[in-house]
Amino acid sequence: MGLKIHIHDLKVQKCAELKGSVVIMPSELELPEMRGVEWHPWSLEYRLTKAGNLFLLSGELKAPVSLECSRCLKPTDTELNIEVNEQFSNQELEDDEIHVFRGDDLDLTGVLRDSILLSLPEKPLCSPECRGLCPYCGTDRNLHNCTCAPRETDPRLAVLEKLIRK
Ligand SMILES: [Zn+2]
Ligand SMILES: [Zn+2]
Repeated sequence: MGLKIHIHDLKVQKCAELKGSVVIMPSELELPEMRGVEWHPWSLEYRLTKAGNLFLLSGELKAPVSLECSRCLKPTDTELNIEVNEQFSNQELEDDEIHVFRGDDLDLTGVLRDSILLSLPEKPLCSPECRGLCPYCGTDRNLHNCTCAPRETDPRLAVLEKLIRK
């Protein structure tokens, strides 16, 4: 499971780089269950090179995803595009930035999963102008105007209004 790249040839320097493109199924990545988030297959174009004891991965990851609009709750399709730049080593190093791996397979699963999760928008919107749901009656204000809107007065004014009515 997950995404592994066989790097033996690069390791023994039979080649100068490894290039490829892969499609990754979301089910392979053990993504956490998230409300309103629906993943579609990701695609990765990558290039791997060796520099001393380091293996350098650069690439472009595209992850289409459906997210719930944070204002009106409508499912909204978007695509996350991420530049991937990571370093790997098969030796134990005192550097948190470098991922350690064993053997001839480079496992990219965790690295890709983390970079995607970090780039998920905190408050996705179906459009920057989304008017959201009415907090009083729940009407989708992108579709209908409800009559609750005029009630949105300044609470300090509401107090004054009460006094005047007495
Ligand atoms: Zn919306
Ligand atoms: Zn309303």
